[in-house]
Amino acid sequence: MMKPKVFVTRHLPEAAMQKLQSACEVEIWDEEFPPPYDLIVEKVADKAGLLCLLTDQIDVNLMAAAPNLKVISQVAVGFDNIDVVAATKRGIAVGNTPGVLTDATADFAFTLLMAAARRVGEAIDYVRDGKWETWGLTLLLGQEIHAATLGIVGLGRIGRAMAKRARGFNMKVIYHSRSRKPELEEMLGVEYRELDDLLREADYISLHLNLSDETRGLFDARAFSLMKPNAILINTARGPIVDSEALYLALKTGQIAYAALDVTDPEPLPVNDKLLTLPNLIVVPHIASATVASRTQMSQMAVRNLIAGVHGEKLPFPVNAV
Ligand code: NAP
Repeated sequence: MMKPKVFVTRHLPEAAMQKLQSACEVEIWDEEFPPPYDLIVEKVADKAGLLCLLTDQIDVNLMAAAPNLKVISQVAVGFDNIDVVAATKRGIAVGNTPGVLTDATADFAFTLLMAAARRVGEAIDYVRDGKWETWGLTLLLGQEIHAATLGIVGLGRIGRAMAKRARGFNMKVIYHSRSRKPELEEMLGVEYRELDDLLREADYISLHLNLSDETRGLFDARAFSLMKPNAILINTARGPIVDSEALYLALKTGQIAYAALDVTDPEPLPVNDKLLTLPNLIVVPHIASATVASRTQMSQMAVRNLIAGVHGEKLPFPVNAV
């Protein structure tokens, strides 16, 4: 029997690759950089399945060029690069990889919180630049973490995992989410706030909401104007939720104290971007889920979605209902 044809936009860990190859006829883009959009369009023309990453733009025109496409399987929990509405209209199943990266991502968001609070990046540079000549009473002073207030925006899987970490550090945790979650408030020891109230009250604000038309640019000049001057913003969600120009001005003028970004807008952030001239900013290259275990499991889930989808079966980890 002929195996269904699939296109894979990046090399996967070996176990996932083997499973995929045993079930499908696989064509793969085996480069470090993402395939050009036009190339994906060309490749999916005769394919039943597409396995893609968040760096691939999967839009309605691409789907229109793929009459046999049954499934789009993304190796990530976020899927803002895929036009899910268009896929659903065409009966194309979309899958993602929730859950297996929750703890790794929350661990990393807390890492960034601590690194910004205690100025770890600046301290490393200080030693490497040969500036460490004595112990200083006021050298590289940071902010307290314990007993401070963390505001979590988006109390989903990763937001909840972040709340648990913060409670372990004896922080007060407040949250804002699209819907209030009374059952979680007692369980996690968190209190609900309207967004503006959270912005006014929190010492640390960590973003865990998905990127959508509603959340794009949510953290704009107005949002920064409400925050405390000691506020530290942590973004491990998606870059465009934060208006980069407004963030630059807020950090430059001391409207807020610090930011730590795993995700940026644009992404990658060009090395000459003015954000990188700021001392009170940490930027790392979108690595919050980058542990061996998480990436291995994400790849395996994406392969399971792809194989189910090309056989017309319900995806084990679906984004849409088709
Ligand atoms: P999730 O469980 O779906 O949680 C998302 C949360 O965002 C939900 O609780 C949702 O609220 C909330 N939300 C949506 N729109 C909102 C709005 N307008 N205002 C306030 N809250 C809103 O997803 P997750 O697994 O925790 O992942 C969250 C996001 O993290 C992903 O979408 C992805 O973009 C990002 N992520 C990044 C990395 C990385 O490597 N940096 C890794 C993993 C995930 P309701 O529950 O009320 O609907």
